Amino acid sequence: MLARILPFVALCLITISASAQKPAILIKAGRLYDAEKNVFTNNQQVLIEGSKIKAVGPDLQVPAGTTVLDMPGATLTPGLIDAHTHLLLMQRASENLAVDAFLNSPERRVLRAASFARSYLESGFTAIRDLGNSGYYLDLEVASAINRGYIPGPKMWCSGPILSAIDGQFYQLPYADRVRVAEKEYRLIRGEEDAVQAVKEHVNNSVNVIKVVAFGERMGVTLAELKAIVKTAHEQHLPVTAHSTGGESLNMAIEAGVDGIEHAYYIADSLLAKMKRKGIYMVPTDPSFQSVIEAQKSQNITIFDTAGIRKELSPLSERLLRAHKAGVKIVAGSDAYTELQISRGDAAKQTIQAYVEEGLSAADALKAATINAAEALGQKGNMGVIKPGATADIAIFGGDLEKNFSKTLFNVSMVIKDGKIVYTKEK
Ligand SMILES: [Zn+2]
Repeated sequence: MLARILPFVALCLITISASAQKPAILIKAGRLYDAEKNVFTNNQQVLIEGSKIKAVGPDLQVPAGTTVLDMPGATLTPGLIDAHTHLLLMQRASENLAVDAFLNSPERRVLRAASFARSYLESGFTAIRDLGNSGYYLDLEVASAINRGYIPGPKMWCSGPILSAIDGQFYQLPYADRVRVAEKEYRLIRGEEDAVQAVKEHVNNSVNVIKVVAFGERMGVTLAELKAIVKTAHEQHLPVTAHSTGGESLNMAIEAGVDGIEHAYYIADSLLAKMKRKGIYMVPTDPSFQSVIEAQKSQNITIFDTAGIRKELSPLSERLLRAHKAGVKIVAGSDAYTELQISRGDAAKQTIQAYVEEGLSAADALKAATINAAEALGQKGNMGVIKPGATADIAIFGGDLEKNFSKTLFNVSMVIKDGKIVYTKEK
Protein backbone atom coordinates (compact mmCIF):
# COMPACT_ATOMS: atom_id res chain seq x y z
CA MET A 1 0.00 0.00 0.00
CA LEU A 2 2.82 2.37 1.02
CA ALA A 3 4.60 1.68 -2.24
CA ARG A 4 1.50 2.80 -4.10
CA ILE A 5 1.19 6.00 -2.09
CA LEU A 6 4.87 7.03 -2.20
CA PRO A 7 5.08 7.88 -5.93
CA PHE A 8 1.99 10.02 -5.46
CA VAL A 9 3.62 11.93 -2.56
CA ALA A 10 6.78 12.42 -4.64
CA LEU A 11 4.73 13.79 -7.53
CA CYS A 12 3.02 16.29 -5.21
CA LEU A 13 6.40 17.54 -3.95
CA ILE A 14 7.61 18.13 -7.50
CA THR A 15 4.42 20.02 -8.28
CA ILE A 16 4.79 22.20 -5.19
CA SER A 17 8.43 23.09 -5.90
CA ALA A 18 7.62 23.86 -9.53
CA SER A 19 4.73 26.15 -8.58
CA ALA A 20 6.81 28.01 -5.97
CA GLN A 21 8.50 29.87 -8.81
CA LYS A 22 6.05 31.44 -11.19
CA PRO A 23 6.97 31.32 -14.87
CA ALA A 24 8.43 34.67 -15.91
CA ILE A 25 8.53 36.41 -19.30
CA LEU A 26 10.55 39.51 -20.12
CA ILE A 27 9.52 41.47 -23.21
CA LYS A 28 11.97 44.01 -24.58
CA ALA A 29 9.89 46.32 -26.73
CA GLY A 30 10.91 49.07 -29.13
CA ARG A 31 7.74 51.01 -28.31
CA LEU A 32 5.10 50.83 -25.61
CA TYR A 33 1.73 52.55 -25.32
CA ASP A 34 1.34 53.91 -21.78
CA ALA A 35 -2.45 54.13 -21.44
CA GLU A 36 -2.41 56.08 -18.13
CA LYS A 37 -0.23 58.85 -19.54
CA ASN A 38 -1.71 58.38 -23.03
CA VAL A 39 1.75 58.48 -24.68
CA PHE A 40 4.08 56.13 -26.54
CA THR A 41 7.45 55.47 -24.89
CA ASN A 42 10.66 53.96 -26.31
CA ASN A 43 12.79 50.94 -25.37
CA GLN A 44 10.77 49.63 -22.43
CA GLN A 45 10.94 46.22 -20.81
CA VAL A 46 7.97 44.44 -19.28
CA LEU A 47 8.43 41.63 -16.77
CA ILE A 48 5.52 39.23 -16.36
CA GLU A 49 5.36 36.80 -13.45
CA GLY A 50 2.49 34.34 -13.40
CA SER A 51 -0.64 36.17 -14.50
CA LYS A 52 0.55 39.65 -13.42
CA ILE A 53 2.84 42.38 -14.64
CA LYS A 54 5.70 42.54 -12.14
CA ALA A 55 7.73 45.49 -13.43
CA VAL A 56 8.04 47.97 -16.30
CA GLY A 57 11.18 49.98 -17.03
CA PRO A 58 14.13 50.52 -19.35
CA ASP A 59 16.46 47.98 -17.72
CA LEU A 60 15.02 45.31 -15.44
CA GLN A 61 16.61 42.61 -13.27
CA VAL A 62 15.01 39.26 -14.03
CA PRO A 63 14.88 35.95 -12.16
CA ALA A 64 16.85 32.97 -13.53
CA GLY A 65 14.93 30.96 -16.09
CA THR A 66 13.00 33.97 -17.45
CA THR A 67 11.88 33.66 -21.07
CA VAL A 68 13.22 36.72 -22.88
CA LEU A 69 11.40 38.05 -25.95
CA ASP A 70 13.50 40.60 -27.81
CA MET A 71 11.18 42.71 -29.99
CA PRO A 72 12.91 45.97 -30.95
CA GLY A 73 10.60 46.63 -33.91
CA ALA A 74 7.35 46.01 -32.01
CA THR A 75 4.80 48.14 -30.17
CA LEU A 76 3.24 46.81 -26.96
CA THR A 77 -0.23 47.85 -25.89
CA PRO A 78 -2.52 46.59 -23.15
CA GLY A 79 -4.69 43.79 -24.60
CA LEU A 80 -7.41 45.43 -26.69
CA ILE A 81 -10.98 45.51 -25.37
CA ASP A 82 -14.13 45.66 -27.50
CA ALA A 83 -16.87 46.99 -25.22
CA HIS A 84 -19.73 46.35 -27.65
CA THR A 85 -19.96 43.14 -29.56
CA HIS A 86 -22.33 40.29 -30.39
CA LEU A 87 -20.48 36.99 -30.55
CA LEU A 88 -23.67 35.00 -31.08
CA LEU A 89 -25.00 37.13 -33.93
CA MET A 90 -24.22 37.15 -37.62
CA GLN A 91 -26.21 38.52 -40.52
CA ARG A 92 -25.61 39.73 -44.02
CA ALA A 93 -25.43 43.50 -44.46
CA SER A 94 -28.83 43.48 -46.21
CA GLU A 95 -30.63 41.18 -43.76
CA ASN A 96 -33.12 41.89 -41.00
CA LEU A 97 -31.73 41.59 -37.47
CA ALA A 98 -34.28 38.86 -36.71
CA VAL A 99 -33.04 36.42 -39.35
CA ASP A 100 -30.28 34.85 -37.27
CA ALA A 101 -32.51 33.98 -34.32
CA PHE A 102 -35.18 32.78 -36.74
CA LEU A 103 -33.07 30.51 -38.91
CA ASN A 104 -30.19 29.28 -36.80
CA SER A 105 -30.24 26.88 -33.87
CA PRO A 106 -28.60 27.79 -30.55
CA GLU A 107 -26.04 25.01 -31.19
CA ARG A 108 -25.03 26.49 -34.53
CA ARG A 109 -24.77 29.97 -33.04
CA VAL A 110 -22.59 28.76 -30.14
CA LEU A 111 -20.19 26.87 -32.40
CA ARG A 112 -19.93 29.88 -34.69
CA ALA A 113 -19.28 32.09 -31.64
CA ALA A 114 -16.37 29.83 -30.67
CA SER A 115 -14.65 30.62 -33.97
CA PHE A 116 -15.34 34.35 -33.53
CA ALA A 117 -13.88 34.19 -30.00
CA ARG A 118 -10.64 32.73 -31.35
CA SER A 119 -10.41 35.36 -34.07
CA TYR A 120 -10.87 38.12 -31.48
CA LEU A 121 -7.94 36.75 -29.47
CA GLU A 122 -5.73 36.46 -32.56
CA SER A 123 -6.54 40.07 -33.49
CA GLY A 124 -5.18 41.34 -30.16
CA PHE A 125 -8.34 41.49 -28.03
CA THR A 126 -8.01 39.98 -24.56
CA ALA A 127 -11.46 41.09 -23.35
CA ILE A 128 -14.84 41.80 -24.92
CA ARG A 129 -18.22 42.93 -23.66
CA ASP A 130 -21.06 41.05 -25.30
CA LEU A 131 -24.24 43.11 -25.43
CA GLY A 132 -27.00 40.71 -26.33
CA ASN A 133 -28.65 39.24 -29.41
CA SER A 134 -27.29 36.01 -28.02
CA GLY A 135 -30.40 33.91 -27.54
CA TYR A 136 -31.22 33.25 -23.92
CA TYR A 137 -27.87 33.55 -22.07
CA LEU A 138 -25.81 31.78 -24.75
CA ASP A 139 -23.21 34.54 -24.22
CA LEU A 140 -22.67 33.24 -20.69
CA GLU A 141 -22.23 29.69 -22.03
CA VAL A 142 -19.48 30.84 -24.39
CA ALA A 143 -17.83 32.88 -21.61
CA SER A 144 -17.88 29.85 -19.34
CA ALA A 145 -16.32 27.62 -22.03
CA ILE A 146 -13.50 30.18 -22.46
CA ASN A 147 -12.95 30.48 -18.70
CA ARG A 148 -12.75 26.70 -18.35
CA GLY A 149 -10.22 26.48 -21.19
CA TYR A 150 -12.48 24.44 -23.50
CA ILE A 151 -12.09 26.99 -26.28
CA PRO A 152 -9.65 29.87 -26.85
CA GLY A 153 -11.03 33.38 -26.61
CA PRO A 154 -10.92 36.71 -24.82
CA LYS A 155 -12.38 37.20 -21.35
CA MET A 156 -16.05 38.04 -21.68
CA TRP A 157 -18.34 40.45 -19.88
CA CYS A 158 -21.94 39.56 -20.79
CA SER A 159 -25.32 41.27 -20.70
CA GLY A 160 -27.60 38.30 -21.34
CA PRO A 161 -30.81 39.17 -23.23
CA ILE A 162 -31.25 42.88 -23.95
CA LEU A 163 -34.05 44.58 -22.01
CA SER A 164 -36.37 46.27 -24.49
CA ALA A 165 -39.90 47.36 -25.31
CA ILE A 166 -42.06 44.63 -26.82
CA ASP A 167 -40.90 45.06 -30.41
CA GLY A 168 -37.31 44.26 -29.52
CA GLN A 169 -35.46 45.52 -32.57
CA PHE A 170 -37.34 43.31 -35.01
CA TYR A 171 -39.40 46.12 -36.41
CA GLN A 172 -39.42 44.88 -39.98
CA LEU A 173 -41.41 41.78 -39.05
CA PRO A 174 -45.22 41.73 -38.87
CA TYR A 175 -46.45 42.49 -35.32
CA ALA A 176 -47.43 38.92 -34.35
CA ASP A 177 -44.07 37.49 -35.47
CA ARG A 178 -42.20 40.38 -33.99
CA VAL A 179 -43.22 39.66 -30.42
CA ARG A 180 -42.86 35.88 -30.86
CA VAL A 181 -39.33 36.13 -32.23
CA ALA A 182 -38.28 39.02 -29.98
CA GLU A 183 -39.31 36.94 -26.97
CA LYS A 184 -36.56 34.42 -27.90
CA GLU A 185 -33.87 37.05 -28.06
CA TYR A 186 -34.85 39.94 -25.74
CA ARG A 187 -36.26 40.38 -22.26
CA LEU A 188 -39.38 42.35 -23.12
CA ILE A 189 -40.37 44.91 -20.51
CA ARG A 190 -44.04 45.40 -19.61
CA GLY A 191 -44.12 48.06 -16.90
CA GLU A 192 -42.00 49.21 -13.97
CA GLU A 193 -42.49 46.13 -11.79
CA ASP A 194 -41.59 43.91 -14.70
CA ALA A 195 -38.45 46.01 -15.30
CA VAL A 196 -37.32 45.35 -11.71
CA GLN A 197 -38.10 41.65 -12.16
CA ALA A 198 -36.09 41.53 -15.41
CA VAL A 199 -32.98 42.94 -13.74
CA LYS A 200 -33.37 40.44 -10.89
CA GLU A 201 -33.60 37.56 -13.37
CA HIS A 202 -30.39 38.78 -14.97
CA VAL A 203 -28.68 39.03 -11.59
CA ASN A 204 -29.69 35.43 -10.88
CA ASN A 205 -28.09 34.40 -14.14
CA SER A 206 -24.84 36.21 -13.20
CA VAL A 207 -24.68 38.76 -16.02
CA ASN A 208 -21.97 41.45 -15.78
CA VAL A 209 -23.89 44.39 -17.23
CA ILE A 210 -27.47 45.36 -18.07
CA LYS A 211 -28.08 46.42 -21.66
CA VAL A 212 -31.29 48.21 -22.47
CA VAL A 213 -32.56 49.30 -25.85
CA ALA A 214 -33.89 52.72 -24.89
CA PHE A 215 -35.65 52.96 -28.20
CA GLY A 216 -36.20 50.37 -30.93
CA GLU A 217 -37.75 51.54 -34.17
CA ARG A 218 -41.38 51.97 -33.11
CA MET A 219 -41.36 51.58 -29.35
CA GLY A 220 -39.20 52.47 -26.44
CA VAL A 221 -39.08 51.74 -22.76
CA THR A 222 -40.57 54.56 -20.69
CA LEU A 223 -38.58 56.90 -18.45
CA ALA A 224 -40.15 55.25 -15.39
CA GLU A 225 -39.10 51.79 -16.65
CA LEU A 226 -35.58 53.06 -17.39
CA LYS A 227 -35.29 54.54 -13.91
CA ALA A 228 -36.49 51.27 -12.34
CA ILE A 229 -33.89 49.34 -14.37
CA VAL A 230 -31.04 51.65 -13.37
CA LYS A 231 -32.04 51.75 -9.69
CA THR A 232 -32.36 47.97 -9.38
CA ALA A 233 -29.15 47.29 -11.31
CA HIS A 234 -27.13 49.79 -9.28
CA GLU A 235 -28.44 48.30 -6.04
CA GLN A 236 -26.95 45.03 -7.29
CA HIS A 237 -23.69 46.79 -8.30
CA LEU A 238 -24.34 46.20 -11.98
CA PRO A 239 -23.69 48.90 -14.57
CA VAL A 240 -26.33 49.78 -17.17
CA THR A 241 -25.65 50.75 -20.73
CA ALA A 242 -28.30 51.98 -23.15
CA HIS A 243 -28.64 51.58 -26.89
CA SER A 244 -29.66 54.96 -28.20
CA THR A 245 -28.89 56.46 -31.57
CA GLY A 246 -30.34 59.87 -30.71
CA GLY A 247 -33.58 61.77 -30.09
CA GLU A 248 -35.69 61.74 -26.96
CA SER A 249 -34.47 58.28 -25.85
CA LEU A 250 -30.96 59.69 -25.41
CA ASN A 251 -32.27 62.42 -23.19
CA MET A 252 -34.26 59.86 -21.16
CA ALA A 253 -31.38 57.42 -20.75
CA ILE A 254 -29.06 60.18 -19.53
CA GLU A 255 -31.81 61.46 -17.22
CA ALA A 256 -32.36 57.94 -15.84
CA GLY A 257 -28.67 57.75 -14.88
CA VAL A 258 -27.29 54.99 -17.11
CA ASP A 259 -23.52 54.43 -17.04
CA GLY A 260 -22.98 54.34 -20.79
CA ILE A 261 -24.60 55.22 -24.09
CA GLU A 262 -24.11 52.95 -27.10
CA HIS A 263 -23.98 54.51 -30.61
CA ALA A 264 -25.16 58.12 -29.95
CA TYR A 265 -25.00 58.90 -33.67
CA TYR A 266 -26.99 62.11 -33.30
CA ILE A 267 -26.29 64.08 -30.16
CA ALA A 268 -26.46 67.77 -29.29
CA ASP A 269 -23.71 69.63 -27.44
CA SER A 270 -26.06 70.20 -24.49
CA LEU A 271 -26.43 66.43 -24.00
CA LEU A 272 -22.69 65.87 -24.38
CA ALA A 273 -22.16 68.41 -21.59
CA LYS A 274 -24.70 66.53 -19.48
CA MET A 275 -22.92 63.20 -20.14
CA LYS A 276 -19.61 64.75 -19.12
CA ARG A 277 -21.17 66.16 -15.95
CA LYS A 278 -22.72 62.84 -14.97
CA GLY A 279 -19.63 60.78 -15.95
CA ILE A 280 -21.52 58.81 -18.61
CA TYR A 281 -19.29 57.29 -21.26
CA MET A 282 -20.03 57.00 -24.98
CA VAL A 283 -19.44 53.93 -27.14
CA PRO A 284 -19.27 55.18 -30.76
CA THR A 285 -19.78 52.03 -32.84
CA ASP A 286 -18.44 53.69 -35.97
CA PRO A 287 -17.48 51.93 -39.20
CA SER A 288 -14.16 52.64 -40.89
CA PHE A 289 -13.98 53.39 -44.59
CA GLN A 290 -12.71 49.84 -45.19
CA SER A 291 -15.51 48.23 -43.20
CA VAL A 292 -18.08 49.98 -45.39
CA ILE A 293 -16.23 48.65 -48.46
CA GLU A 294 -16.21 45.16 -46.92
CA ALA A 295 -19.96 45.36 -46.23
CA GLN A 296 -20.58 46.41 -49.84
CA LYS A 297 -18.36 43.62 -51.15
CA SER A 298 -20.46 41.16 -49.14
CA GLN A 299 -23.47 42.43 -51.10
CA ASN A 300 -21.63 41.78 -54.39
CA ILE A 301 -21.03 45.46 -55.05
CA THR A 302 -17.85 45.83 -57.07
CA ILE A 303 -17.75 49.52 -57.97
CA PHE A 304 -17.38 51.75 -54.92
CA ASP A 305 -18.52 55.33 -54.59
CA THR A 306 -15.59 56.33 -52.37
CA ALA A 307 -16.53 60.03 -52.23
CA GLY A 308 -20.11 59.05 -51.32
CA ILE A 309 -18.92 56.75 -48.54
CA ARG A 310 -16.71 59.47 -47.06
CA LYS A 311 -19.58 61.95 -47.20
CA GLU A 312 -21.87 59.49 -45.43
CA LEU A 313 -19.32 58.91 -42.66
CA SER A 314 -18.51 62.56 -42.05
CA PRO A 315 -21.40 63.35 -39.62
CA LEU A 316 -20.18 60.51 -37.38
CA SER A 317 -16.71 61.98 -37.36
CA GLU A 318 -18.06 65.43 -36.59
CA ARG A 319 -20.01 64.19 -33.53
CA LEU A 320 -17.09 62.02 -32.28
CA LEU A 321 -14.78 65.03 -32.29
CA ARG A 322 -17.43 67.14 -30.52
CA ALA A 323 -17.78 64.44 -27.83
CA HIS A 324 -14.01 64.18 -27.47
CA LYS A 325 -13.68 67.94 -27.19
CA ALA A 326 -16.47 68.06 -24.61
CA GLY A 327 -14.44 65.65 -22.48
CA VAL A 328 -16.89 62.73 -22.70
CA LYS A 329 -15.12 59.45 -22.07
CA ILE A 330 -14.90 57.50 -25.34
CA VAL A 331 -15.04 53.71 -25.01
CA ALA A 332 -14.31 51.54 -28.07
CA GLY A 333 -17.08 49.25 -29.25
CA SER A 334 -17.42 47.74 -32.69
CA ASP A 335 -20.97 46.34 -32.82
CA ALA A 336 -19.42 43.82 -35.23
CA TYR A 337 -22.06 41.33 -36.38
CA THR A 338 -22.16 41.65 -40.16
CA GLU A 339 -21.00 38.70 -42.25
CA LEU A 340 -17.85 39.90 -44.01
CA GLN A 341 -14.93 38.32 -45.82
CA ILE A 342 -12.52 39.45 -43.08
CA SER A 343 -12.25 37.79 -39.67
CA ARG A 344 -14.58 38.91 -36.87
CA GLY A 345 -11.60 40.11 -34.81
CA ASP A 346 -10.27 42.24 -37.66
CA ALA A 347 -13.78 43.54 -38.37
CA ALA A 348 -13.99 44.66 -34.72
CA LYS A 349 -10.62 46.38 -35.00
CA GLN A 350 -11.93 48.47 -37.91
CA THR A 351 -13.72 50.62 -35.32
CA ILE A 352 -10.42 51.58 -33.65
CA GLN A 353 -9.13 52.37 -37.14
CA ALA A 354 -12.30 54.45 -37.72
CA TYR A 355 -11.57 56.65 -34.69
CA VAL A 356 -8.20 57.58 -36.23
CA GLU A 357 -9.79 58.22 -39.64
CA GLU A 358 -12.32 60.43 -37.87
CA GLY A 359 -9.58 62.58 -36.38
CA LEU A 360 -8.52 61.09 -33.03
CA SER A 361 -4.79 60.57 -32.47
CA ALA A 362 -3.41 57.01 -32.39
CA ALA A 363 -2.99 57.38 -28.62
CA ASP A 364 -6.58 58.58 -28.10
CA ALA A 365 -7.98 55.73 -30.21
CA LEU A 366 -5.98 53.19 -28.18
CA LYS A 367 -7.07 54.85 -24.97
CA ALA A 368 -10.69 54.17 -25.93
CA ALA A 369 -9.86 50.49 -26.57
CA THR A 370 -7.77 49.94 -23.43
CA ILE A 371 -7.93 51.98 -20.23
CA ASN A 372 -11.34 53.56 -20.92
CA ALA A 373 -12.91 50.24 -21.94
CA ALA A 374 -11.39 48.54 -18.88
CA GLU A 375 -13.05 51.15 -16.70
CA ALA A 376 -16.41 50.45 -18.36
CA LEU A 377 -15.86 46.79 -17.45
CA GLY A 378 -15.20 47.75 -13.81
CA GLN A 379 -11.53 46.79 -14.19
CA LYS A 380 -9.81 50.13 -13.57
CA GLY A 381 -6.15 49.58 -12.64
CA ASN A 382 -6.35 45.84 -13.29
CA MET A 383 -6.86 45.79 -17.06
CA GLY A 384 -6.24 48.20 -19.93
CA VAL A 385 -2.85 49.26 -18.53
CA ILE A 386 0.72 47.93 -18.58
CA LYS A 387 1.94 48.63 -15.06
CA PRO A 388 3.09 46.64 -12.03
CA GLY A 389 0.25 44.75 -10.37
CA ALA A 390 -2.05 44.80 -13.40
CA THR A 391 -3.15 41.59 -15.10
CA ALA A 392 -0.72 40.64 -17.87
CA ASP A 393 -3.01 41.13 -20.88
CA ILE A 394 -0.81 42.45 -23.67
CA ALA A 395 -1.03 42.80 -27.46
CA ILE A 396 2.20 43.00 -29.42
CA PHE A 397 2.11 44.59 -32.86
CA GLY A 398 4.81 44.27 -35.52
CA GLY A 399 5.68 47.88 -36.30
CA ASP A 400 5.31 51.39 -34.92
CA LEU A 401 1.67 51.99 -33.96
CA GLU A 402 2.14 55.71 -33.46
CA LYS A 403 3.84 56.43 -36.77
CA ASN A 404 2.13 53.85 -38.94
CA PHE A 405 -1.16 53.18 -37.18
CA SER A 406 -3.39 51.58 -39.81
CA LYS A 407 -0.88 49.07 -41.12
CA THR A 408 0.53 48.15 -37.71
CA LEU A 409 -2.89 47.73 -36.05
CA PHE A 410 -3.64 44.79 -38.33
CA ASN A 411 -0.21 43.19 -37.88
CA VAL A 412 -0.44 41.32 -34.57
CA SER A 413 2.75 39.41 -33.65
CA MET A 414 1.76 37.99 -30.29
CA VAL A 415 -1.02 38.07 -27.71
CA ILE A 416 -0.60 37.44 -23.98
CA LYS A 417 -3.65 36.81 -21.82
CA ASP A 418 -3.39 36.36 -18.04
CA GLY A 419 0.40 36.03 -18.42
CA LYS A 420 0.21 33.23 -20.99
CA ILE A 421 1.21 33.50 -24.64
CA VAL A 422 -2.06 32.60 -26.36
CA TYR A 423 -1.18 33.59 -29.92
CA THR A 424 2.03 33.86 -31.94
CA LYS A 425 1.98 34.89 -35.57
CA GLU A 426 3.29 32.21 -37.92
CA LYS A 427 6.54 33.25 -39.54
ZN1 LIG B 1 -25.07 46.21 -30.87
